[in-house]
Amino acid sequence: MRVHLCLAHMSGNEMKFIQEAFDTNWVVPLGPNVNAFEADLEAFVEHDRHVVALASGTAALHLALVGLGVTCGDEVICQSMTFSASANPIVYQGATPVFVDSEPDTWNMDPTLLERAIRDRVAIMGRKPKAIIPVHLYGMPARMDDIMAIARHYAIPVVEDAAEGLGSRYCDHEVGTFGDYGIMSFNGNKMITTSGGGALICPSAEQKQRTMFLATQAREPVPYYLHKEIGYNYRMSNICAGIGRGQMTILRDHLAWHRHLCDRYVELLGDIDGITVHTNPDNRFESNFWLNTILVDPVKTGGVDHEQLRLALEAANIECRPLWKPMHTQPVFSGAPAYVNGVSEQLFGQGLCLPSGPCVTDDDVTRIASIIKGLVK
Ligand SMILES: *Cc1c(COP(=O)(O)O)cnc(C)c1O
Repeated sequence: MRVHLCLAHMSGNEMKFIQEAFDTNWVVPLGPNVNAFEADLEAFVEHDRHVVALASGTAALHLALVGLGVTCGDEVICQSMTFSASANPIVYQGATPVFVDSEPDTWNMDPTLLERAIRDRVAIMGRKPKAIIPVHLYGMPARMDDIMAIARHYAIPVVEDAAEGLGSRYCDHEVGTFGDYGIMSFNGNKMITTSGGGALICPSAEQKQRTMFLATQAREPVPYYLHKEIGYNYRMSNICAGIGRGQMTILRDHLAWHRHLCDRYVELLGDIDGITVHTNPDNRFESNFWLNTILVDPVKTGGVDHEQLRLALEAANIECRPLWKPMHTQPVFSGAPAYVNGVSEQLFGQGLCLPSGPCVTDDDVTRIASIIKGLVK
């Protein structure tokens, strides 16, 4: 049987909430499951945040930028080492992404380079970037204390892309709750799924209201259809939210299993020359290890690189994937300004995502490790 990178895994409680939605005829993009799922998420992230369930993580990021007034001609700083969905909503708003490279410990936004980028953009453009989007890649928290200190110093709002970081903590603080906004994703392969969905973590009840208004076509509160602003159809369906409620009952177990698999990978691969398992840099970081990842240094492995390992594992019906290709190297963003230090390109040149999550067994990890050891002597 194929071992997948990260499959959805149901608690068994999902159908109960979906059935309830059918029984009460709440088969629409609002309703009791949506409200209850939002309440579950608010309780989970703590820090008095207000959560809006939406159609996707991408929609959440888009509404955060709309909420911050990002518009045509603006610049928005975005981590380069990420999935394209972190940057696409910047372009939806007619703004320009400015990419910032990573630092080698977390693989996330390099605070030093971030500050250099801000100063440089102010010098060139005569005004500040409108927002900063750091990412908690593969669940590893970014250096949020440094990033927030810089953002506050220059008074630039932060939107945390926590799509991969549900349950990750930094300094005992849930990721997604440091910045002005945080986004979550419940796509099929993330920490939990709603089949497709996302959420925006808002700083206040007013921002939540405003986000819900924009997400439901910006309809003014009068009996007829009155519109004074451009709206979006971005709300989560009550059926999807039912899946989400079921998934919340098993999230803690998922987190424990992702972290357990990280320990197993470290145990089995940790002492191979040239293989580095990505782990928490120090005890302030608590990654959810959404995907476990390794770097392969062919100089130390006797010439074996990450692509050879990927093909060998694929031949054994085990799915692995290269790391995200940095946005500043993507053809679609070739015109965007970028502040780079070589780290993300080196990561892309050496990294591999290994199967993770509740559908991966201890035996799978043992088999994966023995295939890797067979190649890297
Ligand atoms: C998955 C993902 C998104 C987008 O989430 P969707 O729910 O798929 O729209 C955004 N950023 C990152 C880093 C992601 O991994």
